[in-house]
Amino acid sequence: MGFTQTIVTDIDGIIVDYQKLIIKYVKEYLNMNITFEDFTTLNNIKGIPRDIDNKIFKAGFLKDTPKTYDSIKFLITLKKKGFKIILITDRPPETKEDTIEDLKEIPYDSIFFKGEKNRIDLVKETTPSFVFEDNPKYIQEYYALLQSNERRPFYRLFFPEYIYNKFLIDKLHSPFILTYNTYESVLQYLFK
Ligand SMILES: [Mg+2]
Repeated sequence: MGFTQTIVTDIDGIIVDYQKLIIKYVKEYLNMNITFEDFTTLNNIKGIPRDIDNKIFKAGFLKDTPKTYDSIKFLITLKKKGFKIILITDRPPETKEDTIEDLKEIPYDSIFFKGEKNRIDLVKETTPSFVFEDNPKYIQEYYALLQSNERRPFYRLFFPEYIYNKFLIDKLHSPFILTYNTYESVLQYLFK
């Protein structure tokens, strides 16, 4: 019990329900209706311009985002258990003010925006026990790092099952990578 455990987590797709956020944006700004099934890959949504992220990150749209179910409660629970919580996001630094306002209910120790810290460097420096990420590109980077440390892995990687990252489930073989649907199941795993 003598040491602090750390969790490194992404924001969009983990804490913020990013698909819902995009759907909301597309409806309000492009006057179109899309559904979860239209998210074939993270950056390729049927009929929607590819630079949608850049638009959302500039629209002043991030002050009151939809959160994934129970994510706030989950992080509050981890904080109460003494975890150090580090957030990392691809949102640009210009969104800092809105993001911090949006995450005011969430306990965290530090937050890194795009260009401030590379994910792999961050986990090497902070040696977290757990990492949460939804983006297939970063999941694969974290996986590669785990593989390179196979004899002494230092984190477990969790990713929520979404239509755009499901293909990884059969592709990544490591006992240190786990998928989840609810935070309840993650808590049971962590504190069983
Ligand atoms: Mg994400």
